[in-house]
Amino acid sequence: MATPMSTTKLLAQLRKWGVPFKEYKSWKTHNRNSKGAWGPVHGFMVHHTGSDNADQRAMLYNGLANLPGPLCHFGLAQDGTVHLVGWGRANHAGSGDPDVLSAVIAESYGKTPPADNQATVDGNSRFYGVEIWYSGSHKMTDAQYATLRKLSAAICDAHGWSAKSVIGHGEWQPGKWDPGHKSGRMMDMAAVRSDIASTLSGKAATPPATPPATPPAKPDPATVTPKSREPLSVLTAQVSAAMSAWPFIRDIELAAGLPKGLLFAVGSRETNLKNLVGDGGHGFGVWQRDDRWWPVDSSYLSDVRVQAEDAATLIKSHLTATDDLATAVAAYNAGLSAVTAAVKAGQSPDSVTTGRDYAADVLGRMAMMSGQVPDRVVKWLPVSGHMPELRHGDRGWHVGWLQRNLRRFGHDLKVTEVYDDATAKAVHAFYAKELDYKTTTAGKVFGADGWRRVLSISKEAR
Ligand SMILES: [Zn+2]
Repeated sequence: MATPMSTTKLLAQLRKWGVPFKEYKSWKTHNRNSKGAWGPVHGFMVHHTGSDNADQRAMLYNGLANLPGPLCHFGLAQDGTVHLVGWGRANHAGSGDPDVLSAVIAESYGKTPPADNQATVDGNSRFYGVEIWYSGSHKMTDAQYATLRKLSAAICDAHGWSAKSVIGHGEWQPGKWDPGHKSGRMMDMAAVRSDIASTLSGKAATPPATPPATPPAKPDPATVTPKSREPLSVLTAQVSAAMSAWPFIRDIELAAGLPKGLLFAVGSRETNLKNLVGDGGHGFGVWQRDDRWWPVDSSYLSDVRVQAEDAATLIKSHLTATDDLATAVAAYNAGLSAVTAAVKAGQSPDSVTTGRDYAADVLGRMAMMSGQVPDRVVKWLPVSGHMPELRHGDRGWHVGWLQRNLRRFGHDLKVTEVYDDATAKAVHAFYAKELDYKTTTAGKVFGADGWRRVLSISKEAR
């Protein structure tokens, strides 16, 4: 347990450990402390941004459409420079696993913390966070890795922590795999911690040529290089159409522990994310379930949620069997036995797929699409008895809960679990009718006062 460092203390630590840094805009006062707790802090979380762009300061400072900034405290550029983009609560850790948090607090675990199979604890109040500027589908630069070691040491040293207080986002939140070293695969964080421990103890740094991570001793599938057949603009349009038609896809990915955007990418390769009969009449639905293998017919088209769950289950089973994302994706197209035979024979998993690029194409699409797919982020309001503040674009059961309440109060809208324009319109009308004022946000935010009114009316009705 620790009080977060002041900015003065932080700067002193960065200098003490020789961390190259630059200050961006009003980083010292840029935070989300008005939205929730900041501290006590228990550790330092490592992320990749998912992008190889050369300058990611503005994105990390301002945030994304569905995720307001700052998105971390430290941006780590390809040249090894840390860019300070915020200090205080930041949107980087989301909700994670309470067992992991306990293990990090106690620094009691062995090589790796317990499995992150729950997402129930607010990580943004508990962790410092660095976003390293790279896609995660390849290694970070040597300069980035060298700085990561020093930065981790600077933070651990300030609080008297060991390297066990440093974890990857992929060790905290189900479905995450950052920091990655190839598509869908997190770095060996035990090896990273051991390097940080050396830095902390003042031992000479390992030569930068040493690879930061050793992949497990599985057949090396590195012969698949992600390369999308479609450009970003096409994929972006597909994601946004799919998210509004089938808002549950992201939740199904999370529930299956699949990398962000993978279901979108497979559906995109199969059908451009359209619900149809294809493949000469044998493929059904968005993910083209084949009637030669599965008991499906055109009635299967009526429930896209079931289609998504079936696809996720199948990919997950391949992933469990092969322990490699590219191989698992190739198996979705060519079958598990054909693909594993190819890999065993020293060939690329794509050597047996349609067009010999199925996995490469899907992983390429995933890299581009994952940026458009929101994390499931719910902002809890501390003031209102744990009611989430909901905003336009949010999705999930909380939104469905709001929509059902709005319907109870006579507002005509569908329960889609997406805070869409229709929901905003109904919220606007709800505020005007039940609270006697017009929302200044045109109904695009449903906050504490709205929840209080919903709850008190429910009470009155009882
Ligand atoms: Zn992350």
